[in-house]
Amino acid sequence: MALRNADELAFMRQAGRIAALTLEALKPHLQPGVTTAGLNALAEETLRSYGATPTFLGYQGFPSAVCISRNHEVVHGLPRPDVTLRSGDIVSIDVGATYQGWVADTAWTYAIGSLDATAQHLIDVTHDALFVAIAAAKAGSHLGDISAALQSYVESHGLTVLRELTGHGIGRELHEPPTILNYGRAGTGPILRPGMTLAIEPMVNTGPGWRTRLDADGWTVCTQDGSLSAHFEHTLLVTTGAAEILTSL
Ligand code: MG
Repeated sequence: MALRNADELAFMRQAGRIAALTLEALKPHLQPGVTTAGLNALAEETLRSYGATPTFLGYQGFPSAVCISRNHEVVHGLPRPDVTLRSGDIVSIDVGATYQGWVADTAWTYAIGSLDATAQHLIDVTHDALFVAIAAAKAGSHLGDISAALQSYVESHGLTVLRELTGHGIGRELHEPPTILNYGRAGTGPILRPGMTLAIEPMVNTGPGWRTRLDADGWTVCTQDGSLSAHFEHTLLVTTGAAEILTSL
């Protein structure tokens, strides 16, 4: 697991800021009637306007700039011109920004119009689970401490953590070691060290199942049981104190 030096971190901070600015640019457009392909086009334009490239475009052949996943879709949602947002939807947008060869990755789940109580609870718990996990990402702690904190927070709120996809190290590449499970045991795994850069990303279902299936489009990962799913992600730097979130404004 690579440790970043000051010069590298300057690029990663900028990549992170651009990814965050891109989500911010999309927010006013998250309205009923908007197509997911339209949001994707705006995201790509925003990333490029800041001198970044969309990390996901072409990654393993992915044909769009960002991933947009609605309702029972977990992640890797393929934007489409014939899919429009509707009131009551939850929609997660996952943005990767590559700036000067350095990558940042962030995701947020948004409400379209007003949500029912189940969807709102899912969003709230998944959001808070991300920050519980970030608080566990301290130098000297074990990687498993992050996983355990996340899982126990989610399950104590009656929701299900997804097991088939994970967080990851990040830097030169979108996905670097270590793999960060969203479930696990405290006190296990490698020790966290200052200078590590990690993408922590709880994916949480209303459940009861945590298994997924791949949509017919070949990209979009859906819950197998059709339950709702939310996704929040930040790229962060492990320090001697609280982790620094790189994908915030
Ligand atoms: Mg990620």
